[in-house]
Amino acid sequence: MPHLTRRAFGLTALSAPALIGLASAPAHADGHAAKQAPVLFEASLGRYKIVSLFDGMVPLGKDFFFGADPADVDATLAAAGISGDALPAPINAFLLQSDDRTILIDAGFGGVDMMGPGFGRMFDGLAAMGLRPDDIDTIIVTHAHPDHIGGLMGADGPAFKNAQVIFPEGEVAFWGDAAMMAQAPDEAKGLFQMTQGVLDMYGDQIVPTADETEIAPGVRITLSPGHTPAHSVVHIDGGERELIMLADTLHNVTLHTALPEIGFGFDTDTALAAQSRIKLFDRVATDNVLVAGSHIHFPGFGRIVKDGDAYRYLPASWA
Ligand SMILES: [Zn+2]
Repeated sequence: MPHLTRRAFGLTALSAPALIGLASAPAHADGHAAKQAPVLFEASLGRYKIVSLFDGMVPLGKDFFFGADPADVDATLAAAGISGDALPAPINAFLLQSDDRTILIDAGFGGVDMMGPGFGRMFDGLAAMGLRPDDIDTIIVTHAHPDHIGGLMGADGPAFKNAQVIFPEGEVAFWGDAAMMAQAPDEAKGLFQMTQGVLDMYGDQIVPTADETEIAPGVRITLSPGHTPAHSVVHIDGGERELIMLADTLHNVTLHTALPEIGFGFDTDTALAAQSRIKLFDRVATDNVLVAGSHIHFPGFGRIVKDGDAYRYLPASWA
């Protein structure tokens, strides 16, 4: 069982003044988020079309990353042309469409009032594709953090009324456990309450799902624990291309590839997260597998290559 420390829930990082300052930045004087155009990107994997749907930008900063020598962090960022403390990260959700399936992988922040306005834009992307939330038949949840499940919550019930919600069974067990919530720090109880709210709201639509279960032809989830107890990635074999959606294996492509053991503020178990990250990076680098990520710069597709003792991220170029 992971230790339920404040750090394990990102609470140290969340109190960083930089984040609080940035959280209110996107609002107009009238308090409404700027209305922005949908942002989406489509590519073919063969049987499936995959669409990257931008949901919003999270104002992360250097303070969220810990456990590495600060001089190494600064040198790594400088080599990538990054200066200053801000390391903003997008939230990407992904849609898989075949002749007979419409599958959403994670649901963005939605209207969760945690980071300020400017999130939930994934819904604009779906609308731009001519899709209504009721058209989604399956939702794969990689893990129960607000930027992945917030969009599931509609104003008065499930935002996706016809979808089966594939939830890693270990995530349901952990976040749905009243005893676990009781021993969590007070500031983290909201994360448990939010997940329990989603589980209650969706009821029979929730499908607690075992490791390596095939969700649709060529689509399966694989446990990659550490960021959360049952954080999972999604393998997609479309026939023409194989892709692994790495979810929250990466929160910053520069730091997490060059310094793969670096801790991230929301990891429930940093050492386990690093072990899972390195295992996945070795697999995708060795087999040259296309990757996608929830927090990789939009559209979020690329490759991970070996670079000495560490790795490097290369954005995908689609032929
Ligand atoms: Zn995330």
